[in-house]
Amino acid sequence: KQAPQKAKKIEGAALIGIDISKEEDLSMWYQQVLTKGQMMSYYDVAGCYILEPPSFAIWEAIQNWFNAKIKTLGVRNCYFPIFISSDNLQREKDHLEGFAAEVAWVTQGGTSKLEKPVAVRPTSETAMYPYFADKIRSHRDLPLKLNQWNNVVRWEFKHPMPFIRSREFLWQEGHTAHLTEEEAGKEVLQVLDFYAGIYEDLLAVPVVKGRKTVNEQFPGAHYTTTVEGFIAATGRGIQGGTSHCLGQHFSKMFNITVEDPTRTETGEKKPPIYVWQNSWGFTTRSIGVMVLTHGDNKGLVLPPRVAETQTVIVPVGVTAKTSDEDKASLYEEVEAIADRLRKAGVRVEADMREGYSPGYKFNDWELKGVPLRLEVGPKDLAARVVTTSRRDSGAKGTLPIDELEAAVPAFLETVQTDMFAKADQDFRSHRKVVDDWADFVPALNAKNVCIIRHCTEGPCEDEIKEMSARKDDDDAPVDARAPSMGAKSLCIPFEQPDGLVEGESKCTNPNCGKLAKKWVMFGRSY
Ligand code: AMP
Repeated sequence: KQAPQKAKKIEGAALIGIDISKEEDLSMWYQQVLTKGQMMSYYDVAGCYILEPPSFAIWEAIQNWFNAKIKTLGVRNCYFPIFISSDNLQREKDHLEGFAAEVAWVTQGGTSKLEKPVAVRPTSETAMYPYFADKIRSHRDLPLKLNQWNNVVRWEFKHPMPFIRSREFLWQEGHTAHLTEEEAGKEVLQVLDFYAGIYEDLLAVPVVKGRKTVNEQFPGAHYTTTVEGFIAATGRGIQGGTSHCLGQHFSKMFNITVEDPTRTETGEKKPPIYVWQNSWGFTTRSIGVMVLTHGDNKGLVLPPRVAETQTVIVPVGVTAKTSDEDKASLYEEVEAIADRLRKAGVRVEADMREGYSPGYKFNDWELKGVPLRLEVGPKDLAARVVTTSRRDSGAKGTLPIDELEAAVPAFLETVQTDMFAKADQDFRSHRKVVDDWADFVPALNAKNVCIIRHCTEGPCEDEIKEMSARKDDDDAPVDARAPSMGAKSLCIPFEQPDGLVEGESKCTNPNCGKLAKKWVMFGRSY
């Protein structure tokens, strides 16, 4: 095991703050930002983490937003048990194969061995579908649309990373059954749009929507659609959330059918119709992507729409010479402003702690990522303004005290929009359309993801992964801890660049020789 590198101090960093830069050591930086920003704490089971109130508040904001959206589709929330019988888990062969290596099993209760071990759900298709078979008897029972907010366990052996890859994580999983492929397919895309909405509209994180290649699709799926994110600091892609059409694979295994009301030409009953199913899942990984995207060397930077505290007010300018009377009226004004903002729907804190300097308080709230700081001192009061400081850009300004109810919400919306625009620009400029194989690995090494013409076939993807793995003799690695992994296909973007001529353009892998079917986004990834 390598000894952890000694962190180099960022110049001028306060003692309470982050003492290693994002550029220097992303992994150490990430740990510090999360723990010092009180998003999570470590736990003594590897790959499991404690989600603290500020991150759980973000999860609740996501839940509220998403619940409202799926209810417009007629989806209802429910809850299924955490355990799956081994018989049910094994009913869909591809699904089992895909998850077998990561399933945790309960083999013992107290001191007695279980006669039949039960699995801890890695996902709930096989827990829910016997119920679907039972409930769905006729057309009138369709569509059936259920969702649950729950935890799942995937005993992963890849390096764990808080939020991004944990052994237990929180998510929602939606499971729906439809009469036709068309209807199922429509919902797959509606939900994918919601996922993109969580990232872009709430977390201010840009994503690319697309379809997975067969190599990368969900075990047992008919096809998988995805929102793919990007971590600019490492140039690696990350799967942000997936919406699968399961086709009839599971309905055939679990015998979920409805009668076909139409008759054959000779008037006979037709065989029953297997329903078309979807499943879709979105996890707490999204919070990690948000932190990695926006955080800086002062700590967290939270988008206003999800921040537990959107605005902090800090009284300033109080010195030993300030009279008790002036101090009392300043504090009164600060409390009054907080009250007015709270009534206007702003999540606001007034930091009235005694014994802490304004400077200390500034650092503390910056570490926690609060989007907007208002400073109020005697001079501000005299001019009937407050001083503003934006967490994202550091920009300072003023707002008239008497207009804060309208001005602060508008200000926060501007911050939200600007944060997205910046991250979007970052992702766009690191999404390279690459024509020649010779440019592929250099582009990856320069922290880009690459969109190439591709045959979309599995063996070719495997070869690309192999050919783009960092070898020992490569140029200096960008991040010493970055895996030497090759690039995998992230998705077939729905938005396809121009310049692929069907039946003419070749796959970019020079050893492949097949025709290109699609532009496919490849990248090193999490
Ligand atoms: P899946 O059910 O495999 O399609 O996974 C749904 C989503 O969960 C993926 O799109 C990832 O964004 C996320 N995810 C997968 N594995 C993990 C993990 N170990 N920790 C957190 N999120 C995960």
